[in-house]
Amino acid sequence: MSSKHKLRQLIKNENVNFDDLRTMLIAAHPDDEVVGIGSLLRYLKNVQIVHVTDGSPRNMIDAIKSGCTSRQAYAKKRRVEMISALNLAGHKSPDCISLEFIDQEASLNLPGVSLRIVELIERMKPQLVLAHAYEGGHPDHDATAFGVWAACRMLQRENKQTPDVVEFASYHGNGSNQIITNRFIPDENTEVVEIKLSNMEQNLKKQMIECFRTQRDVLSEFTVKYEQLRNAPSYDFSLLPHEGTLYYDYYHWGMSSSRWLRLANEAMRVLRLGEN
Ligand SMILES: [Zn+2]
Repeated sequence: MSSKHKLRQLIKNENVNFDDLRTMLIAAHPDDEVVGIGSLLRYLKNVQIVHVTDGSPRNMIDAIKSGCTSRQAYAKKRRVEMISALNLAGHKSPDCISLEFIDQEASLNLPGVSLRIVELIERMKPQLVLAHAYEGGHPDHDATAFGVWAACRMLQRENKQTPDVVEFASYHGNGSNQIITNRFIPDENTEVVEIKLSNMEQNLKKQMIECFRTQRDVLSEFTVKYEQLRNAPSYDFSLLPHEGTLYYDYYHWGMSSSRWLRLANEAMRVLRLGEN
């Protein structure tokens, strides 16, 4: 049975044994896994969680607010928070690795991110990869979506096996600086599955989110009532993810949409990936 099929059964609350499904969850920051797909984590028994960044920006603004005196200390604090949240989902010794790109800088390293993901997929041979969508919400999320897409394209090019890729929603803008959380940018060609969380699942997810004390203000914007999933659509990274101004264009996260496009096109050239 394909992992997509299994996932659909799980979403429909059918009795599926996920013990044998090798899953890799690839997220940009420690907390994206819980915000995006926290309710599913307790079902995934054979899951490796990969973070592309260390969650600690170079500018130290958030680190200092959290009482940390170094970038490394803040990264460690965020990792400890994430492990606590995974413990609550039944992962007593979670299998987590970080690619350790600096937070807010993954999009400056798109070929590097992509090649590291190729290496991981070749080594771990996951059947299913859970990943960010291309949303224009945070440049590191888009860099992660690009990395997963590019890795699969490179593996296909070499006739190597590729995993199914299922996406979780994080956030995007509505064309102004208003945030839309836990929902994908509407795409009439891609079916979206919305998981309604039971009261028990909502309570557990709330507790998991509370573990991220350093992110408390940001995470208050996210719902615990539902999560959206979909099969990764066929992207064209030479285009922006939606019309109008992207959410991160309103913030000082070191990236603008025009710069992102230049970087994505350059990375596709370097990795010899044609349009779509
Ligand atoms: Zn994030």
